[in-house]
Amino acid sequence: MFSERPLVYAIPLRTRFRGITVREGLFLRGAVGWGEFCPFGDYSDAESVPWLACAREAADVGWPEPVRDRVAINCTVPVVAPERAAEIVAGSGCGTAKVKVADPGTSLGQDYERIAAVRDALGPGGLIRIDANGAWGVDEAVVAIRTLDRAAGGLEYVEQPCRTIEELAAVRRRVDVPIAADESIRRAEDPLRVAVAGAADIAVLKVAPLGGVRRALAVALACGLPCVVSSAVETSVGLAAGLALAGALPRLDHACGLGTLSLLTADAATPSLRPVDGWLPVPRTAPEPTLDAAADPATRDHWLARLSRVSALAE
Ligand SMILES: [Mg+2]
Repeated sequence: MFSERPLVYAIPLRTRFRGITVREGLFLRGAVGWGEFCPFGDYSDAESVPWLACAREAADVGWPEPVRDRVAINCTVPVVAPERAAEIVAGSGCGTAKVKVADPGTSLGQDYERIAAVRDALGPGGLIRIDANGAWGVDEAVVAIRTLDRAAGGLEYVEQPCRTIEELAAVRRRVDVPIAADESIRRAEDPLRVAVAGAADIAVLKVAPLGGVRRALAVALACGLPCVVSSAVETSVGLAAGLALAGALPRLDHACGLGTLSLLTADAATPSLRPVDGWLPVPRTAPEPTLDAAADPATRDHWLARLSRVSALAE
């Protein structure tokens, strides 16, 4: 292992996400460059082993040759009023918008209004996908998808309408809007399960839980589904690995969910991977971390201990 000490960061989020308000993790230095290790708190040490493999690949080995030099990026529209949704889309420069729907305490009518506003802001040529984060039951999903497909004047796809693979397959048999699996894919064997069950038309892949760019690329090819690369809300160091995967996929038909720096109040690397006109470049190595977001001693100790436990498991 390279001797330089890992750098631990803690960056507040703009809005609560996955129940957290601060994104934490660390950067590892290797012979090739930097890697980011940032499993969420609900990942066990064993489940964090692929996240470490992803960071070590970036730091020690580097990524496979890309087949494209830039990647289209979607903007994300949270559960906000229609006027705000239109502003987010217009301000992003992106040709694809992902709209969050089915939030607890909101109605299908509100989702409809928000999506109609997004269509107005995007114009007829833009693409709209929705993400229910598994919130619907099967019957509810069928009604909602048909309704929101009308609001959008045609949806690109719906991401994780229901929680389980069986429910996704049941919904997919009843609607003609393509289904994407996101939360159903957390481990390397999951995309194949999704494909075999007929549960999705598209697989949403995140490099860190799948164990790095090479491993995710192999998973993408094995499952045979069109893929969308998404982030785990990393800093630009981790986003670079996601872009390396998006750059190396033989086929990439959809914009990727890697424009997520906007969810953080700051980055911890330079240059920052913020989309310009809806595109990000495919980098050959991760950008250099900066120490502006250095964590307090307790957080640093927590992450260094986590790193040593997960490193021991990985050997
Ligand atoms: Mg999702």
